[in-house]
Amino acid sequence: MGGTNPVRVQSMANTPTHDVEASVQQAIEIFDAGAELVRFTAIDEKDAYTLRDIKNELVAKGYTKPIVADVHFNAQLADIAAQFVDKVRINPGNYLEKRATFTTLEFTDEEYQAELEKLDARLLKLLNICKEHGTALRIGTNHGSLSDRIMSRYGDTPAGMVEATMEFLRVCQKYDFQNVAVSLKSSNTVVMVQAYRLLVKQMAAEKMDFPIHLGVTEAGAGTDGIIKSAVGIGTLLADGIGDTIRVSLTGSPASEIAPAQMLADYFAGPNKNVKINYDEPLAFDPFSFIRRSTELNPSFDNTKPLVICDLPDLSMETLKSLDITFDLNTMTITGGKQSPDVLYFGAPEMDLPDFKTKNISLLIDYKVWIKDSNFEPLYGLNTYLSAKYKSDKRNWVMVSLGTLTPEAMAVLKADPTVVLIACSMCVNQAAEQRAIFNRLIANGVNLPVVVSSIYKEPDVAQFQLKAAADNGLFFIDGMANGLWLSNFARINVKTVTDTAFAILQSARARYTRTEYISCPSCGRTLYNIEKGLAEVKKATAHLTGLKIAVMGCIVNGPGEMADADYGYVGAGPGKVNLYKGKTLVKRGVDEAVAPQELLKMIEEDQKN
Ligand code: SF4
Repeated sequence: MGGTNPVRVQSMANTPTHDVEASVQQAIEIFDAGAELVRFTAIDEKDAYTLRDIKNELVAKGYTKPIVADVHFNAQLADIAAQFVDKVRINPGNYLEKRATFTTLEFTDEEYQAELEKLDARLLKLLNICKEHGTALRIGTNHGSLSDRIMSRYGDTPAGMVEATMEFLRVCQKYDFQNVAVSLKSSNTVVMVQAYRLLVKQMAAEKMDFPIHLGVTEAGAGTDGIIKSAVGIGTLLADGIGDTIRVSLTGSPASEIAPAQMLADYFAGPNKNVKINYDEPLAFDPFSFIRRSTELNPSFDNTKPLVICDLPDLSMETLKSLDITFDLNTMTITGGKQSPDVLYFGAPEMDLPDFKTKNISLLIDYKVWIKDSNFEPLYGLNTYLSAKYKSDKRNWVMVSLGTLTPEAMAVLKADPTVVLIACSMCVNQAAEQRAIFNRLIANGVNLPVVVSSIYKEPDVAQFQLKAAADNGLFFIDGMANGLWLSNFARINVKTVTDTAFAILQSARARYTRTEYISCPSCGRTLYNIEKGLAEVKKATAHLTGLKIAVMGCIVNGPGEMADADYGYVGAGPGKVNLYKGKTLVKRGVDEAVAPQELLKMIEEDQKN
């Protein structure tokens, strides 16, 4: 991986590693699905030695692609596994010591240095074994799993994740060990993107260019997990960062490969590599999250990016599917909790009544708009500049990179009723839309901007993945104030709208439902996590704005569930521990009743 190689796709087995037959069988399924690497957890010495049998068995069956040992907490296991596998992953947060215990909050410079010397000596031993056996190393840092040493100086921040990784990379570089890959995962896509960008910057400053493994941890299951992964990974691939990826999903590891490959292929494809005609200097800081400042029209809520949807028809069925009610007696259209914020009617040929509205706005093309109606007008930029009539409240203006001249920006800037719609006809539309934001920031145009992305994608999975990979970055970078997805292949409007909301939630820009953070599980999982996740979702789906983590094990689960409000964590065969934040509230609950116990705990807690 790395260099000019394609982005490699990988997954991780969730069988108990000591079960050679099951592990080999699952690795074959993952390789047959198209993976280039398969990782196995190594919990103890038995696992570490079993990896030799797994490797031999796979090679005997003709599967010669690399396998990786995933080691936490025990440096010795890495020494053993490195003799048999192709790559060993260690976690800087717990390679030398357990992750932060918060018992040592202050380190003097001498104490800090002494720890680094200890790290140097311990890691050198592993590097020598790796050199002898031609084994690669992955320095795999996780948000929420940093050492006391790092926490004492940097806290649980992207900068802390980067320094934790750099300490290890400096040792590799000192001993001329180049066979290294790096990851900095988080379930928080904003933290993840910042951490990887900072790492690349720091590596460049220290003359390192190790390949990068991208992933969003605990992304969840199914479509939600795929969209969240595509938002995080897609943002970085769009930056040109990433040599190997994993789309972590709770469920079968082989099912991770198709979306991961789709993502890799999308960014390797011709459209994403079309260069746009733009060379203005960067006008914002990509290394920290600062929301683009906007002077807002009072009717616009800056803290809640809005969703616009194309309305294909006015049938009750369509409106109901979008959580919208239509009262025929009063001709009132009312938005619900899950409905889009704005309905776009286009330029209907028949006259429409002047509907009344509640919790929803109606958008119509300027050429059929009637002044003082409840509809709001949508203009092309040139039409807006020469328009005879304008709304006193809100005017929506479509702009592209080519039309955003200094003269046009000066006029737009002077009109606080304007909301811009960032459009692009370029096949690499996201790149051109990024340039639009850069130009607006550079010229001090502080109007709200909605990103409009148009697809002709008949395949739902492809549409969701492309839309997430293209548009998440505008919210991760705090640029956009809304999202308007269109699909001319006529994918159901409800699916399109749900995709928009899922992208906003994945980018942590707007929460419309409970977020489930769940690990993909591995050999450490001793209960049925897939069933557990489904039941937890069923029990808590009516709650909104919460983050609930469903994790496989108590070894890494509590650390890696990061900023979840509640945790449901495997504690042993058929047993689950329940957490409020990082505090253990109920221990060893039977998995048959645990989802209901969790709900009870949340309800009690919310009452107080
Ligand atoms: S939280 Fe535990 S079970 Fe889940 S992937 Fe991490 S180590 Fe495996």
